[in-house]
Amino acid sequence: MLRAIFVLVLLLPVLARADYMDHFVIREDVGPHKAPYLGDAKLVLIPVEVKGFPPLGAEALQAFFGPDDPNGFVRYYETASLGRYRPRVVVAPKVTYDTCPLPAAQFPGCAIARGDITALTSGMDMMRDIITRTRDAGFDFTQLDLNGRRGTSDGWADGVMILTNTPFGGLAFPFAFFNRGDNLNGGSGGPLVVQGVKLGHFAIAGEGDRFVMIHEFGHLLGLTDLYDESQRYDGLYLSFMGAWGYDAKVPLPDAETRLRLRWANWHQVQGRQRVRIQPAETTGEVYRLGTGSEYLLIENRGPGAFDRSLSTRGLAVFHVDRTVKLKGDEGAFAERSLDCVECDPFHPYIRLVQADGLYEIEQGRPLYANTDLFHDGRYLRPGFPGNALAQDNLTLDTNRYSGEVTGWLIDDIRLQEDGSFEVTLDAPGEGQCGERLCAEGEGCAPVTCGESTAPRSGCAAMPGPALPAIALLLLEERLRRRHQRRLRGA
Ligand SMILES: [Zn+2]
Repeated sequence: MLRAIFVLVLLLPVLARADYMDHFVIREDVGPHKAPYLGDAKLVLIPVEVKGFPPLGAEALQAFFGPDDPNGFVRYYETASLGRYRPRVVVAPKVTYDTCPLPAAQFPGCAIARGDITALTSGMDMMRDIITRTRDAGFDFTQLDLNGRRGTSDGWADGVMILTNTPFGGLAFPFAFFNRGDNLNGGSGGPLVVQGVKLGHFAIAGEGDRFVMIHEFGHLLGLTDLYDESQRYDGLYLSFMGAWGYDAKVPLPDAETRLRLRWANWHQVQGRQRVRIQPAETTGEVYRLGTGSEYLLIENRGPGAFDRSLSTRGLAVFHVDRTVKLKGDEGAFAERSLDCVECDPFHPYIRLVQADGLYEIEQGRPLYANTDLFHDGRYLRPGFPGNALAQDNLTLDTNRYSGEVTGWLIDDIRLQEDGSFEVTLDAPGEGQCGERLCAEGEGCAPVTCGESTAPRSGCAAMPGPALPAIALLLLEERLRRRHQRRLRGA
């Protein structure tokens, strides 16, 4: 009964609270704060060229944002979502500027200068101007409202992306939250309104960098940054919202992100189970040990159309604690940009548990798939009571961050010929099956819980404000460059 009440409370819409990029603390704010992330969606990519900088290359853009490029934007999101999210991108007429649309004094070379408070206002004026020019060029904005919170048209655009050729890292910007000026519809403040369609937030990338756009668009879907902004280490590997080279080797979403997006096939462990975990990219399988806000997630990751930076396949284990800086309060995204969810390497929101127990990522070194993923012979077992992970206590066990023993276990891993892994998992023998992310629909509830699943055959399952804003803008720019330099080995 108590559990029933708990589940009910989890499901109640908390409409008073809603935040941009909150990693689904709130999921009822599709429209005002999030783009729809399930079903068919129509997005626009607006190319913006400033003369004097390298041109964008229209054909390459059409290809990458078209549905047929196996490594492109659309195929990425379709693969990551198991086909549950099916975006189509229309490329708008190119917006051209003879000179940089930003004031030269503050933006020499049309680059974003750091620490300049006027950047916000100028940047918003530029976004408003780009939308105005796109409208005036005859673009039909009404086609962009295919989807919404209930899967149908809701008055909000499904997604707006702006790709420039100027030196600009990347940014996802909640325009409606900050806007105090013209809304292009005779009013002021809030979202821009064009042909009756509300445009609330924009994903922006510079230097024609389409890979950065995959990440920035993830923010529009509701995701927060998962790289480290404190510069202590790289942050979360194996996630397109985290640490990667922002190059063609795009990582899939981490297991927690896929679970929250309802793109996972979620298996909740109850009692001791021998299971076979199939590749994440074809089955979306995520095994979860534990309930509530702190738990372990296990998935099978390896090189394929995406995740090509991985040298080998293995089980990725994530220790998740959703009490780390995720609040859901309106505007709290700005706080998270200053004090990020991954900033403490030894207790972030999502930590990749490295099989070798050397804690190299936490100490600023990169991911090594052959020793950091879990393979045959590796395991993760309960620790001693009170044994808590800390910088001076690098312990490898399944205890909570508090040191409390959980009883969770990952053991006896066996790679199979088809690329799946057989593994023994253990979790408490009861009370694990009641949690839901949402009331109904795909990905809301575990597809299995606690049954002793005999290993299946090799065939894959069918897939079913001003100052913090500036900081946000500048951090994104700085960090993307840092990761790019580091991970490209430049
Ligand atoms: Zn970001």
